[in-house]
Order: sequence, then structure tokens, then C-alpha cells
Amino acid sequence: MTPRRQTRQISLGDRRTGIVRIGGDAPVAVQTMTAGYTHEIDKCVAEINRLAAAGADVVRVAVPERKDTEALVEILKQTSVPIVADVHFHYKRALEAVEAGVHKIRLNPGNINDRDQVNAVIDACKERGIPIRVGVNEGSIIERKDKQKRMDELGKYFAGHKSGHLLALMIAKLEEYLDIFHEKEFFDICISAKSMDPALTIDIYTEISKRFDYPLHLGVTHAGPKETGCIRSVVALGTLLANGIGDTVRISYASDPVYEVEDALEMLYCLGLRTRIGAELIACPTCGRIQVDLFTLVQEVRKKLKDEIDVPIKVAVMGCIVNGPGEAEGADVAVFAGDRRGIIYVQGQKVANIPEEEILERLLQECRDFQARVRRGEVKLGEKKVEIKPPDPIGELGSGFDRIAGQKVERVTVGRT
Ligand code: SF4
Repeated sequence: MTPRRQTRQISLGDRRTGIVRIGGDAPVAVQTMTAGYTHEIDKCVAEINRLAAAGADVVRVAVPERKDTEALVEILKQTSVPIVADVHFHYKRALEAVEAGVHKIRLNPGNINDRDQVNAVIDACKERGIPIRVGVNEGSIIERKDKQKRMDELGKYFAGHKSGHLLALMIAKLEEYLDIFHEKEFFDICISAKSMDPALTIDIYTEISKRFDYPLHLGVTHAGPKETGCIRSVVALGTLLANGIGDTVRISYASDPVYEVEDALEMLYCLGLRTRIGAELIACPTCGRIQVDLFTLVQEVRKKLKDEIDVPIKVAVMGCIVNGPGEAEGADVAVFAGDRRGIIYVQGQKVANIPEEEILERLLQECRDFQARVRRGEVKLGEKKVEIKPPDPIGELGSGFDRIAGQKVERVTVGRT
């Protein structure tokens, strides 16, 4: 991991929501965006609160119409997380959102580029101490006028890069746009430059991190459904973050935005960029040695841990005793399944040997008890390693080596005999 790049810092929020800092020495913040209509106040409030409960530090809402900015007044009263107004095409939506008390404005240089209009938004934000994200997107950056000429000119600059012309256009657009802000001596800025292409996303953020010291909002735009969008996003954002680049992230899926928050947090936990809240679950992929329904068990354990555990205990669900102990090393609570049974360990001590149908409830009970002991200061997380020495537990469970030892193993030959 490369140490995080030092940037300026912006702050958003108020006394009611708390202040979220982005950039500088602040932890990487997680953002998402509502999927519903902002003017449907009750639904919008419910969605924002659900996203905040999932762990979003900041939530963005679309404000395409006047009725959306009007709704903000009520929405802001009923939510407790900083809200960003996402403004495209109509600079007046930004002015209205500022007036409503929103905590941050996002402007797209691709569709609000009249200097007087931008200046009006800057003045309003400056007066209220509200930061602005300048967010260029690959989809809205292409200038229709003289497009080919500009691409040819600028593309040469990044000739060695994949999609060098797009990279050059996005950087040029950011530089031109930020000049307007600098002339007004407005530096309360965060920037983003999103593409649908993960490789281009890595290139562009790497380039802009060298040119600007503003905090960077990372994202792969239009990443697709969760199943594939997750890979597209985490490949790009994870690479940048591991290289020390990025101050806030938004993963975007064509799916429930709660998944965006959950996956962004898991990515940051995995990289050690946020302190984990809740249990960390590890589980084996299963193989021909499995003798319980591990996939169902893992999903049930995951759901229950999410609801009931908020201390970062490490929980391991392993299909057998053959490789399980080594792979679960460091787990606070672990179960090793066997022949329709499971042995449960808590920090290396065996506490139960139970039939398959009792594994879920007993494992959760051990997690709850362990969480309570951590809270009382009786135990520390990750203090002891799981140390299970074969052959004893293997014989106890009747799995793994026991099966292998009890059967004749066919001789395996390679190639023609
Ligand atoms: S823990 Fe056991 S069942 Fe699970 S993958 Fe490893 S060897 Fe297979």
C-alpha cells in the first residue's frame, strides 16, 4: 500500500448531521446516491435513512426539477447524513439547493459551462461555506463542436495511453473549469473524472492526482449490475486506493444502492483504509470433502451477523478440519464442519460439538457472547489463534483425513501407461 496522497480537505454537514471531512487526514468517505425521485419526500427520506444505516457517510440526490429542490427543505429536516445536490443543465437548481440548506453541490462541466452561471453558483456556495464537486464524466465530456480536431490535438499528449484522447479531453475540461473557480478564489472543491472503463479510470485519476491537490471522489460510472459492476468498480478503485489515490468513493450499480455502500465499505476494510464495524466473515469455498450444506449456512450466518454484531470479530465457517484450521487462523469464533456435525471454537478453545441443525444458532450465540465479553473488556479481538492439531478432532468429526484413511486411494497416473 502506498501512503495516501496529501490533499486539501473539505467539510460538509452541520450540527445535526455531524461534519464529514473529505481529503487531508480524514478516512476515505463512502458516498452513494438515491435511486428514487427526490420530490417524493417520504420515499426519498426513507431511502436516505436506509443508506445511512448501511454505512453511507454522504448521500447524493438528483434535483432535475424545481419540485426536487423544493423537497430538499423537508428532506434535510428528516435525515441525519450530509446531502449533496446533483446538478446538471440547470444552474438554478444549484442556487435553489443552496438556499434549501443542502451540504454540497455537484456540478458537471459538460453541461453547465456558462461562466456567469458557474460564477453565480460559486458565489452562493462561498456565502454559505458549501463545497462543490466538479465532476466530469466520460459520457458528457465529448464536445460536439470541433470534437475530432480537439481530440486529435489533445490525444497526442497521451498517445501512449489507452483512450488517450478522452483522457486529454477530460483533463483539459477540468483545468478550464477550475480556472473559473480559481479566479473567484474558491478552493472548497472536490473533483472527479469518471469513465465506464476501469483502465481509463485508473489512468485519469492517476493523471489528475499529479495536477491538482483537491480531494478526489473516485468512481466508475455506469458500472452495470452489481454482479459485474462490483468487479469493474473494485478493480479500478481498489488499484487507485492501493496507490494512495482517492479520498471518497462511490460505487455505482444498476441495483439497490445499499449494495454500493456495503461493497464500498468492504473494499475499504480489506485495504485497511477504514476501521471495520461489524463481523468479518471468512468461509471456505467447499470441495469434495464437504459433508454439510455450507453455502446455506454461510448465507444465514452472514445475514444474522450483519443484524446482530457490530464489534469487528472475525468469524470463520469452514467445511472441514483438513484445511480449515490453517485457513481460519486468527478467527475469534470458528466452526469446522464434519459428518453432519460441527465443532465450534472460541479463540482456540473448543466449546461445542453439535449436530448440523444446531450449528447456526450455537455459532451465533457464541458470537453474541463473545461480543459481550469484548464490550466488558474481558477479551481482546484476535488475541488467540485457532490451533487444532489433527488427528483428534478429525476422528471426532469423522471427516477429512478420517474418510481418506478409511478408503483405498486409487493410484493416479499421469499420461499414457
Ligand atoms: S475447508 Fe475443507 S471442505 Fe472447505 S474447501 Fe477446504 S478442504 Fe474443502
